[in-house]
Amino acid sequence: NYTGIPYPFGKFDFLLVPSFQFGGMEHPGSVYYNAPALMLDESATQNQKLGRASLIAHETAHMWFGDLVTMRWFNDVWMKEVFANFMAAKIVNPAFPEINHDLRFLYAHYPAAYDVDRTAGTNAIRQRLDNLDEAGSMYGAIIYQKAPIVMRQLELLLGAASFRDGMQEYLKAHAFGNATWTDLIATLDRRTPDDLAAWSRSWVEEAGRPIIRVDLKANGEAVESLEVTQEDPITARGLLWTQPLSVAIGYRRDGVGTRHRMTGRALRISSGATVPDYVLPNSDGVSYGNFVLDPSSRASLLENLPADEVARGSALVMLWEEMVDRRVAPRAMFDLLMKALPTERNELTIQRMLSYLQQVRWRWFRDAERANSAAAVETTLRAGLNAAKTPSLKSAWFNALRDMAQSPSTLSWLESVWRKTETVPGLVLAEPDFITLAQELAVRGVPDGEAILSEQIARTQNPDRKGRMEFVRPALSADPAIRDAFFAQLKDPVKRRREAWVLEGIGYLHHPLRAASAEKHVRPSLEMLLEIQKTGDIFFPKRWMDATLSGHRSPTVAATVTTFLEGLPAGYPDRLRRIILSSADDLFRVTRQARP
Ligand SMILES: [Zn+2]
Repeated sequence: NYTGIPYPFGKFDFLLVPSFQFGGMEHPGSVYYNAPALMLDESATQNQKLGRASLIAHETAHMWFGDLVTMRWFNDVWMKEVFANFMAAKIVNPAFPEINHDLRFLYAHYPAAYDVDRTAGTNAIRQRLDNLDEAGSMYGAIIYQKAPIVMRQLELLLGAASFRDGMQEYLKAHAFGNATWTDLIATLDRRTPDDLAAWSRSWVEEAGRPIIRVDLKANGEAVESLEVTQEDPITARGLLWTQPLSVAIGYRRDGVGTRHRMTGRALRISSGATVPDYVLPNSDGVSYGNFVLDPSSRASLLENLPADEVARGSALVMLWEEMVDRRVAPRAMFDLLMKALPTERNELTIQRMLSYLQQVRWRWFRDAERANSAAAVETTLRAGLNAAKTPSLKSAWFNALRDMAQSPSTLSWLESVWRKTETVPGLVLAEPDFITLAQELAVRGVPDGEAILSEQIARTQNPDRKGRMEFVRPALSADPAIRDAFFAQLKDPVKRRREAWVLEGIGYLHHPLRAASAEKHVRPSLEMLLEIQKTGDIFFPKRWMDATLSGHRSPTVAATVTTFLEGLPAGYPDRLRRIILSSADDLFRVTRQARP
């Protein structure tokens, strides 16, 4: 119905492959699927069912977007992926009315896109690709997370009906042929008074995001003016980003949003006569940028998040970005999360908050600050675990507790859960959960850590998991010499073949609790990146760098990365340099070190 083109390939088969390396592959007329993604257990959660429905809809949409009309060259491979997701959401979302899809979209896309787009290593959605052997390094958060945000904005810019008509025209014109992003923009441009080529330049052809600043001027209790401005963080470039912008004016926790369009540099907004508790830009979670709140709204939102679910989620993500940019203290973010978590009812928001709580403690807190907060955090998490109503919420709280636990009493309780002498009513723990629990206990150096690992390996039934645990085990050893030997063997590409295993081991090797003894491995890991790109799968270089650096917060390690980058030879691949810059971004920020 959406494309106005009947199914183009006659037959339409599903072929289920056991342990297929992709979720699905859109061969015309016969879609291949990873069998476990379609054959779910009876206990499957709503989220898993939504994921399966989305996967089927995604591959089906590819019959039109990708197969009927194919990109001319791989620099536009992102288009078919974005359209497949775009269509999948239209097909599947109405069947899951109990899920807040706007909120789900927000959490699934914005934090990951910002994680890369705020760094010096970011790239444009549409990149130049000279040789197919570099195609793998194009994939990442900018294509998978930022591009869908941008596409949703394009639909809003044109209006849903006009956008659909343009897509139909594009598909008909290029059926059984090839087309580029430029072809699509030219087709859509005829349907709007806006200059889509200029729009595309800011959003698709260039990297980064606008700084969007709220300026609220008050005279006592009265509002004098309210203005939102945008600027390009790269001053010399001077881009303007056209986008929809909703602004909520909030009193207490309730805000009333109004929709605007940000086209020029500044936007004046009329507000109530009295100064509100907060002004929240992007209250509908549609706009994209580095938002700078006005000081009184920032303080107010750190006290109380808005009542509306999407506005609350948007404020949460925004305050996190403000923390990363040093406008909010990590301690203030921590206090907000600890205060908001016990009363939060939305499952998606609870999961997002738990993830932020972990990051703020492991990454942004100093060791002493982290240790001092342990008791309060563990109490909050235990209470959340007990109060949680659904199995998926139970496991979210439990996993957070497992990953943050530090105090001897919580560790010994977790050990009892691992020994199955304690149970948590309503919490379902499967084999992979016991493995992770054993490993998390071992990395904390509990007295019988080695015995726990041995017993867990013996207990493990699944041969693949058993092999993985045996591989990872030396990285968890209390003996630094054994951990060093784990790293040394990875110089041999054969030992790096099972990349998921390697990444898990590297993650434990550089665990924040072990960071000091792992500092010496950082430089060799950077030196190995070039070879890793040649021998590894497409996502491996970025994941290798993330696993290496995410546990560190010392100026020494930041300096190691800087020295390495400054000493790179002229011919070093730019994409790898960018991967390092983006993986090291938090480290540079935490240590307040200037980026090279
Ligand atoms: Zn796809």
